[in-house]
Amino acid sequence: MYFSYIAPHISFINMIKVGLIGVGHLGKIHLKLLKEIPQFDVVGFFDADKTRAEQIQKEFNVPAFNSVDELISKCDAIDIVTPTITHHQLALKALKKSKHVFIEKPIAHTLEEAKEIMTLADETGLKVQIGHVERFNPAFLSVKKYFDNPMFIETHRLAQFNPRGTDVSVVLDLMIHDIDIVLSVIRSNVKKINASGVAVVSDTPDICNARIEFDNGAVANVTASRISLKNMRKSRFFQKDAYISVDFLEKKTELIRMKTIQEEPADLFAVTIDLGEKGKKQIFFDNPKVEDSNAIKMELEAFANSIQNNTPAVISAVDGFRALEVAFKVMEKMQSAVEIK
Ligand code: NAD
Repeated sequence: MYFSYIAPHISFINMIKVGLIGVGHLGKIHLKLLKEIPQFDVVGFFDADKTRAEQIQKEFNVPAFNSVDELISKCDAIDIVTPTITHHQLALKALKKSKHVFIEKPIAHTLEEAKEIMTLADETGLKVQIGHVERFNPAFLSVKKYFDNPMFIETHRLAQFNPRGTDVSVVLDLMIHDIDIVLSVIRSNVKKINASGVAVVSDTPDICNARIEFDNGAVANVTASRISLKNMRKSRFFQKDAYISVDFLEKKTELIRMKTIQEEPADLFAVTIDLGEKGKKQIFFDNPKVEDSNAIKMELEAFANSIQNNTPAVISAVDGFRALEVAFKVMEKMQSAVEIK
């Protein structure tokens, strides 16, 4: 029969039976959104904390399972929203049972673990998507089409102190979001990384700056802090004839483009720069419209679409591995900078 050539996990699935592991701060949001997405049939969830599980079961009217294995056996796809240290073990369990997997960022706690997930995703053909949610931030989406070989990127991700997440370095907690964004727009291999950071409040670094250089000459200057007085998540991208600014927090953008006047008729309202023998250029200011969309819902919808249409995961295990690889290099450089002193 024709369909017998298609592996069961990649055959057409009408409604995706999904199970959630971990219903803490972010998991609770995932549960609410999974219920809203028509492609998903939410079978249930598992959380290691029984009291929390009971609360959530009541609040959302979704069954709490007594074991991970039982939940996995009832689903087509599993959404993992537990602490990073558990991602690898849970992802492997699900993949080995032929289930598609969504894993919160970062993909895993070590590079070896991330590699194992990546290899299994590749071997099985199952969909593995990583929760680098800023790629679905409506501000980033609104300017995405204007990126054309950015050569210098400056990012700031500053957060007020919050004890949640301080078990890992600020690089794995916050900077990894911007590392993923940078790697998604600079299509070149990383050549060199320099970094410095300080553990001010917690036992792991709370503030870090890294300079990431690429083979094509592009440079990203990336700063993350979790001991700031105010929150900020802003990135600026510079490329030939354009400047793009994305405010991930306020959901605002700025786009400044330069066009030579020969290319198109002069605009009376645009600023003109006279470059002498090189002709004249005009500067255009724009604020591309930012849609009022929910990034987490969009990433989960993208996961559903990749399963139903058998298309590649939008943010794959390979992307998750690459971001983690750079994050570890940043942490290594930060450590050696401290040791030299
Ligand atoms: P949290 O501590 O609020 O919740 C974690 C939940 O997992 C808890 O309810 C805990 O009981 C449960 N849990 C722990 N170990 C488990 C296990 N082995 N099996 C089942 N349940 C288990 O944490 P959080 O803030 O929701 O973060 C969860 C994950 O999401 C982390 O990987 C974090 O890095 C990631 N995260 C991502 C973003 C983002 O912007 N994409 C933001 C916050 C957190």
